[in-house]
Amino acid sequence: MNQSRKVYMQTLRKILEQTEANGVAVGHFNISDLVTLKAVFEAARDLNVPVIVGASEGERQFMGVRQVSALVKSLREEYDFPIFLNADHTHSLSSAIEAAKAGFDWIVFDVSTLPFEENVRQTKAAVETLKGLRPDILVEGEIGDIGSGSEIHDAAPDLRKGLTNPAEAKQFVTETGVDTLAPAVGNMHGMLKSMVAGETRKRLDIERIRAIKAEARIFMTLHGASGTDDNDLRAAIAAGITVVHINTEVRLAWRRGLDSALTTQPDEIVPYKMLPQVVDSLKRTVSARLELFSSGRRARPASHL
Ligand SMILES: [Zn+2]
Repeated sequence: MNQSRKVYMQTLRKILEQTEANGVAVGHFNISDLVTLKAVFEAARDLNVPVIVGASEGERQFMGVRQVSALVKSLREEYDFPIFLNADHTHSLSSAIEAAKAGFDWIVFDVSTLPFEENVRQTKAAVETLKGLRPDILVEGEIGDIGSGSEIHDAAPDLRKGLTNPAEAKQFVTETGVDTLAPAVGNMHGMLKSMVAGETRKRLDIERIRAIKAEARIFMTLHGASGTDDNDLRAAIAAGITVVHINTEVRLAWRRGLDSALTTQPDEIVPYKMLPQVVDSLKRTVSARLELFSSGRRARPASHL
């Protein structure tokens, strides 16, 4: 592990602390190819804000665990830019260890479908093992139900019973020793067709976010934020969300950019002459979200400033 990497590993937590102090949030965007990584990096650099890229188990299996880590590390070092890599929704300890050894900065250890006590037991063991391997790594735990699959869904699952309880959140954080918490507060993975069409938006339980933050006093990540009402996102950040995950909107922009390239350049076969249309489509989506996440301070009530 070389020196420049070590410097950034020490500052990831500081970036979250500063982000929280500023009343804003860091954007987290999932990637499964170089085109998306390029777009996320360029959008963050244009706005000069830190950014986190995520790779779930499926996404990193496609890119290669060590390969995606090497790509992100190369951007961080060459451009001296705060871009970090998260092993999103890691469902087993062996997969978490593989990502930690490959150099991921952050692991979302997600066994949230298990009963609460078992979730606590396994997450606690994962935190101990991962910190033993890499004391500087961040580990996130998840409680509650936010559905699965960052895809287009026909119907919304009933997530009301799976909303995170503030007292349970406090117990979970205390007993597991996680660095960050992913709560269920009205968020949901994936988007409904009506959301893609712009007819409906996800709504968040802002009071629940505030209550969990007051109890658990920990960095909180909002998963499944694609298709969420803009004002709810601003309010959620003001209430205690520090990192916001966007995946489905990114995938949608990727698909639309590719459709456009195929339609407007029917005879082109050179990838690097077609894929800029995909990069542009992705950058528009990522930039808009980063601008919103970094404007939280203005939306924060005066009493909190
Ligand atoms: Zn997620």
